Amino acid sequence: MTRPAAVLVEDLRIAYGTTWALDGVDLDAAPGTTLGVLGHNGAGKTTLIRALTTLVRPSTGRVLIDGLDIVTHGPAIRQRIGVTGQYAGLDEFLTARENLELIGRLAGLRRGARARADALIDRLDLHDLAARRVGELSGGSRRRVDLAASLVGSPSVLFLDEPTTGLDPIARTALWDVVADLTTTGTTVVLTTQYLEEADRLADHIVVLNHGRVAARGTPAELKRIVGGKRVTATIPTHHLANLPFRPDADPDVHGAHARVTVTVDDAATATEIVAQLDDIGISVTDLDVTSPSLDDVFTHLAHTGAHR
Ligand code: ATP
Repeated sequence: MTRPAAVLVEDLRIAYGTTWALDGVDLDAAPGTTLGVLGHNGAGKTTLIRALTTLVRPSTGRVLIDGLDIVTHGPAIRQRIGVTGQYAGLDEFLTARENLELIGRLAGLRRGARARADALIDRLDLHDLAARRVGELSGGSRRRVDLAASLVGSPSVLFLDEPTTGLDPIARTALWDVVADLTTTGTTVVLTTQYLEEADRLADHIVVLNHGRVAARGTPAELKRIVGGKRVTATIPTHHLANLPFRPDADPDVHGAHARVTVTVDDAATATEIVAQLDDIGISVTDLDVTSPSLDDVFTHLAHTGAHR
């Protein structure tokens, strides 16, 4: 028998008073995959995570975690999920190891709690932090302990709510490596993030929420195809702006004698032609980038053009 979807959401609507925080959301995540949930402030991400973690009931629709309905199986679901947030409930005065052991005992592990704490310290490479009080840790270190805490109960589905907000790039990359590793052992990860690069790096599938609805969905590559094409960015002498053989995407970025212009074209072959044309006309290019669209471009595109389901 095949395992059911780790997360299944059908026509989920949740109202706060007269506001539909979620207004007909469908989504699913296969076991052992990472689902990224993106959206502007107020799009409904937090409400979705609250529903998936049994903290709020659907007004209509249904939510299944590992095939169990959140309305009828709340306690069973809470035993098989892990949740991290920006403000986790770690005890500031206990060490990282003591926190992990305490959480294990509270989860009913009894004498196994110590071994579980040790295993997580190994797995997340927390050896340097284990004996330090959590209140003394930097934000990045604390996030790693928080992540370890959410893994104590060996969750089948792990919810990461903006796991790297406020971290410096090095701490962020270190946490990404840990998260990327989780799905290799079969854990399903649901991730909300403000960082599109984070979703690009970690998520197998992404849903973009907008005003409580799914505005776009797909793999990172599929979403980038919504924008399509290649982006050519060239730095040229400002006095040549009038001679360009194409119409730039936006007003050129002029810095004295030099200007940066960007144009989006259909494919790599057209990008090469554009560059050759500049050369033919005698426009000297001092800097040149040819890039594929990023998820940031997808977001900007969706903001201008509306929903793609
Ligand atoms: P952010 O990125 O700012 O956290 P979000 O995508 O998580 O936003 P939600 O917090 O889920 O969005 O909010 C979705 C909508 O529901 C918003 O219009 C918000 O004002 C509204 N909302 C959320 N919680 C409540 C509440 N407890 N009472 C009333 N309205 C709420």
